[in-house]
Amino acid sequence: MIGELEGEVDRNDSHATQISRTKWARHAGLGPIVNHSCDPNCGCEVNETGACDFVARESIAAGDEITFDYAMRNYSIEYFPGGCLCGADLCRGSVTGWKDLSDERKADYVGSVAPYLLEIDLELAAAPV
Ligand SMILES: [Zn+2]
Repeated sequence: MIGELEGEVDRNDSHATQISRTKWARHAGLGPIVNHSCDPNCGCEVNETGACDFVARESIAAGDEITFDYAMRNYSIEYFPGGCLCGADLCRGSVTGWKDLSDERKADYVGSVAPYLLEIDLELAAAPV
């Protein structure tokens, strides 16, 4: 599913999507209705506009919900105070950002996440705060 952007926003908020290391935007089209799962059937591939295309990570049957992990494109998520309701066996209990994923989960997601997340990890590993 091709992602499209509605426009940039000044900062991160509960409906914003990270689109680079320092920018956030709102997605248009069907993107905003794709729900989070801690064990998603789609990954995120950033297209030439900066939007997230949803790419299947496994076979998806007709009628199945398309999901992705919000951590696949947002380094930090601070606007989901309640618990995660995805129902996956691998549910981590809350909707978190990339920075909060285990190394094992990050390795499982390689190739399905926004490249700026990997750049931030590399930068932090080179110069820990
Ligand atoms: Zn979950």
